[in-house]
Amino acid sequence: MSDIRINISNKTYVLAHDTEQFHHAIADLDFTVHPQQFVCLVGPSGCGKTTLLNMIAGLDPHFEGQINIGQATQSPTIGYVFQNPRLLPWLTVRQNIEIVFDDKPPTSLIDNLLDNMQLFDAQHQYPERLSLGMQRRVSISRAFAINPDILLMDEPFVSLDAPTARQVRRLLYSLWQKRPHTVLFVTHDLREAIALADRLIFLSPSPMRIVSDIEVPIAREQRTDEGCVEAFREQLLQNHPKISELL
Ligand code: ADP
Ligand code: MG
Repeated sequence: MSDIRINISNKTYVLAHDTEQFHHAIADLDFTVHPQQFVCLVGPSGCGKTTLLNMIAGLDPHFEGQINIGQATQSPTIGYVFQNPRLLPWLTVRQNIEIVFDDKPPTSLIDNLLDNMQLFDAQHQYPERLSLGMQRRVSISRAFAINPDILLMDEPFVSLDAPTARQVRRLLYSLWQKRPHTVLFVTHDLREAIALADRLIFLSPSPMRIVSDIEVPIAREQRTDEGCVEAFREQLLQNHPKISELL
């Protein structure tokens, strides 16, 4: 795996062609993510985080600049957990995961994922019967099923109650530890970001720029220690007062 190099000089949305109304979404965004790094992107609503993930995923090529995510000869596999679970209502839990495979889905891999994500008993249910927490677990499982080199996650735990969010966060983290890969994770929640990330990138309101880029020096085994996370959060807000305006 190689670095992800992001260098965007300009991303503008055209709002209305006839009146020439534009929205300047991103300006001069330049950073590099190293292989297997877990990066949290933190910024206010509407600042351009989803726009950036769509561009990295290759879903939006309309920008000035470059995003390099691997050698030309070997493009990495990208998993994308969208802001909404986006499950297909006519497919079961299992089929919603299997759909990412062109050929016969690997039975034992999917069994393991269902098991790890505590979805095994619900595998034959349809999405309308699932809680939002379960739907999010299915969408995370679908992204993991392809063994991505790069995982993009767009506020995957929003609107989950705190205990469910904590449970799914731990599941995600243990899957990531079993098979580390590069993660770009969007969140509003600074505690969540500190508990998960190697590195926090704080982003400004539109046009989006980097405000601070901070390493999280907490040891992996201490990430579940809420006191430790809280102490780092307080220190961070004290040393970088601008950050509190971005949450
Ligand atoms: P975030 O994910 O940080 O909340 P988005 O990337 O969704 O922000 O949006 C950034 C800005 O770009 C917002 O002001 C939003 O209204 C605007 N925007 C997003 N998508 C479009 C679009 N397809 N057309 C026009 N404006 C858009
Ligand atoms: Mg968004």
